[in-house]
Amino acid sequence: MRLCRFGDSRLGLVEGRTVRDVTAALDVLPAYRYPLPGYDPLIANLGKVIARIGEVSSNAALLPLESLRLLSPVANPSKIVAAPVNYAAHLSEVASDSQLSAGNASHSMTIHQVGLFLKANSSLVGPGEGIALWHLERRNDHEVELAVVIGKRANNVSRKDALQYVAGYSIGLDISIRGQEDRSFRKSPDSYTVLGPWLVTADEIPDPGQLDLSITLNGETKQNSNTKYMTLGVAELIEMASSFYTLHPGDIISTGTPEGVSPIVPGDVIVATIEKIGSMEVKVRAAEEFGKRGQTALSTPTLEHAARSMREGTE
Ligand code: MN
Repeated sequence: MRLCRFGDSRLGLVEGRTVRDVTAALDVLPAYRYPLPGYDPLIANLGKVIARIGEVSSNAALLPLESLRLLSPVANPSKIVAAPVNYAAHLSEVASDSQLSAGNASHSMTIHQVGLFLKANSSLVGPGEGIALWHLERRNDHEVELAVVIGKRANNVSRKDALQYVAGYSIGLDISIRGQEDRSFRKSPDSYTVLGPWLVTADEIPDPGQLDLSITLNGETKQNSNTKYMTLGVAELIEMASSFYTLHPGDIISTGTPEGVSPIVPGDVIVATIEKIGSMEVKVRAAEEFGKRGQTALSTPTLEHAARSMREGTE
C-alpha cells in the first residue's frame, strides 16, 4: 500500500497515477491533548488507519497524482536519524575530494567509528514543497537515500528482529552544506530533509537491501547505485540506533548516500528514484530569508573561511 499526504495535510491512497482521498480514515486516530505524544500518531495507529481506509476508499474522491502538492508522508517524527558514509564508494569520494571533506577529519572515518547523527525535525518537507537553499556562497549537495519509517517502539532491537519494527519506506534526500561544522548543523536548515513521494508499507519491500536508487539533476544522472552496497544494512542500522536511543513510531532513518553527490543551485530540478517505491521531482530555489540575512551570516568568520576555502580549493 502506498500512502501519501498532500494539500493541507490530507491522506491519499496512491493507485498508479491516481490518488484516492481517504482523509476520512483519520477519524480512527485518538484525540490528543497536551502534552502531545512523542511519536507520530498516524504511524503509531497505521494498522487501524489502513483497516478504516478499506471501509472508506470506495467512496473516496479520485484525484490525478500530478495535480497534488505532496507533503512528507510522516508529519511528526520524534527524530530523524541519519547514517553518514554508509556506502564505501561515497566514503572514498569524500576522502579524495577536498571540497567534500572540507578538512573535516571525521569525513575519513567509517560509520562504525562515527556512529549516527540526528537532523532537526524542522528540516523535514515533502517533494511538493521543494528545497530552499541557505548559504548560497557555500557548496550545497544532493544526497539520495533509502528512508526507513519506524512502525513501533524499538529499544535495543537485534538485527535479527529489526525489520519487524519497520512501518514502511520512502525516498529521502539528505541535503547538505559542505564544511567543517557538525553534520547535524550543516544538514538541518529548513527543507534540507525531503521525504516522499509516499510511504510504501513494509509488506511490499521484504528485502530493503536489494533496491536500485538513483538521482538525476536537470536530467543528468548523478547517483546510481543499489542498497546492496550499504556498509550497514537497514536491520543493522536499526540495531545500532536502538542501542543508543529508543525509536518511536514515525521516526525516520535515512540510510546514507552512494557516490555521485554534486552541487545544487537555485533553479535546479532533482528527480530521485528508488526501486519498488517510485520517483519524486523536487525543485530547488533560494530561501527567501537568505536575501535578508545573507549579509549578516556572511560576516561570521566560519563562513568567510569556508567561502574562501571553496574558491581556493585548499581544503
Ligand atoms: Mn547523507
